[in-house]
Amino acid sequence: MTKTAAPESGTSKEDVDAVVVGAGLAGLGMVYHLVDRGFSVRAFEAANDVGGTWYWNRYPGARCDSPVDVYCYFFSDELLQSWNWSSKYPRQPELLRYFQHVADRFDLRQHITFETRVVSARFDEERNRWVVKTDGEEQVTCKYLITAVGCLSSIQVPDFPGLETFRGEWYHSARWPHEGVDFAGKRVGIIGTGSTGIQATPLIAAEADHLTVFQRTPNFSLPARDHRLSQEQMTALKQSYRTIHETIRHTVSGQLYQLKPGSALDVPADERLRLYEKDWAEGGFHLLFGEWEDLLTNEESNTTAADFVRSKIAEIVQDPHTRELLQPRDHPIGTKRPALDSDYFETFNRDNVSLVDVRAAPIVELTEQGVRTTETEYELDCLVFATGFDAITGALLEMDIRGRGGLPLKEKWVDGPTTYLGLGTEGFPNLFTITGPGSPAVLGNMPITIEQHLEWIRDCLEHLRAEGLDTIEATSDAEREWTAEVEAIAAETLMVKVNSWYMGSNIPGKPRRFVIYLGGVGQYGDVIEGVAGSGYPGFTLSSSPQPVGVLAGPSGGPS
Ligand code: FAD
Ligand code: NAP
Repeated sequence: MTKTAAPESGTSKEDVDAVVVGAGLAGLGMVYHLVDRGFSVRAFEAANDVGGTWYWNRYPGARCDSPVDVYCYFFSDELLQSWNWSSKYPRQPELLRYFQHVADRFDLRQHITFETRVVSARFDEERNRWVVKTDGEEQVTCKYLITAVGCLSSIQVPDFPGLETFRGEWYHSARWPHEGVDFAGKRVGIIGTGSTGIQATPLIAAEADHLTVFQRTPNFSLPARDHRLSQEQMTALKQSYRTIHETIRHTVSGQLYQLKPGSALDVPADERLRLYEKDWAEGGFHLLFGEWEDLLTNEESNTTAADFVRSKIAEIVQDPHTRELLQPRDHPIGTKRPALDSDYFETFNRDNVSLVDVRAAPIVELTEQGVRTTETEYELDCLVFATGFDAITGALLEMDIRGRGGLPLKEKWVDGPTTYLGLGTEGFPNLFTITGPGSPAVLGNMPITIEQHLEWIRDCLEHLRAEGLDTIEATSDAEREWTAEVEAIAAETLMVKVNSWYMGSNIPGKPRRFVIYLGGVGQYGDVIEGVAGSGYPGFTLSSSPQPVGVLAGPSGGPS
């Protein structure tokens, strides 16, 4: 894929209705919806193709953990009927092909400039225009700035001393070489046992001479039980898509299952166990997000599920020391993101796999030979960082975004992000943050949380155009109240009691705050639809007295 749509090198003075930053699930969908409604759009994407997450995460074992019943775009019947999935949880190459197919089918690439990063955006108050600059030294002005930069796209490589001295190869899971990595005959180390480490471990172990898994926090994981989809199953799925879509827009998680009212503790122990066994046998997240609604709010209820999963790990893992180390005991199940796996725990029964507890003996440095902990040095040929992301705000704040009075967003959010509905923030008119902090974002099936934002933004822009309005901006009262509500809902749960990337605690110096709306995907949809339907209370909508024009010259951007 080569760069497209860039008018010419050097500074351009193009003016468009909207600039979209990112061309993953969100950005690509946003381009589709805006072009469909006759808005002029420029999108910029740092990668050299569409796909976002599925472009970058090419590590062995990378795959979806939302089933394909719900992990797709629903905006086009044609698209739903034309695409065939091979299995319930497809792997990365197939997911990437899907997004490439969408881009081609709807001719969206012409609006996207690839291999180009947006580095800054400044709101010009006189003209009500955002002035957007890229690392390709292009400047575009636009009325609406829409960020689709991803909640999990800014990578985190721990700052271990000595990384530059390591003589082997090292990779972050989300910057994986396109040509793949040959682990055959090599001594490989992997740091991290989140969803990524758990997906990658079995595949690397099957190829490497030896795999050392460096585990700081053991993680809960449930079996995915992936299976191929037959032609008949795919046909049945196509017939059900509309019903599925209608259902998942109203559930708590944007998935097909719904939490049941009541407590896990109200159910007799043998009946509870029967249900957990059934969920375990069927695979997927049902055990956690399809049973009782108090599993994430009541520690005692939570323990029933956590004990069950620990007992399953104990059944699978043969070595007593490894078995003990793999059982999570320091956090309630679901408070750190649990994983779905295919033979993760079974992998520790292989002779060529060892588990190192870097909670007990932390990594102190990388050496020429490998990894040194406080106890010993591990010699390695290859090291994989499955160490995650600066989630939710990382990619947003990598850009120098400045609102009214030149205020940097980074400065406004120095104590943690505040938004109204996760979509806008006061002082930054016409800035829309898809899956921004304060929305359900990553705590729901993301095609649905993203769809909610795409449709809301599209309709909002149409409203502004129809009414001859120039700006929309969150009020400080609405923002304060919404942020307080997000925090209050989170405070009722066990999520705020542990360290996790949800809390920002995986990034040194990041404010420790829970910034995801936990009221549920369906309820959130009702709230934002209600706001749009009643004339956007909580936002100030205004028209500008100034004539709107294209800015002259390269001046005026953030320095
Ligand atoms: P992304 O896909 O992250 O795309 C953002 C894009 O913005 C990237 O391509 C990036 O290069 C670009 N970008 C960022 N900053 C700039 C800039 N300044 N200038 C230009 N371009 C920029 N969610 C689920 O619901 N179900 C799943 O099963 C699931 N599996 C996942 C598996 C992995 C390995 C990961 C990491 C995440 C997974 N997620 C899953 C979450 C996933 O991120 C979303 O499903 C979805 O892909 C998000 O789409 P997005 O467009 O918002 O962000
Ligand atoms: P993650 O969940 O943040 O996990 C990072 C891992 O690295 C953790 O085990 C962490 O340990 C460890 N780590 C970080 N710094 C370390 C250090 N200095 N020393 C030792 N260990 C260190 O990241 P991720 O696994 O990439 O997943 C991020 C999110 O992406 C997931 O939660 C999920 O939302 C999404 N994802 C989804 C899928 C899917 O199945 N579809 C797959 C991959 C990712 P601690 O826990 O102790 O900090």
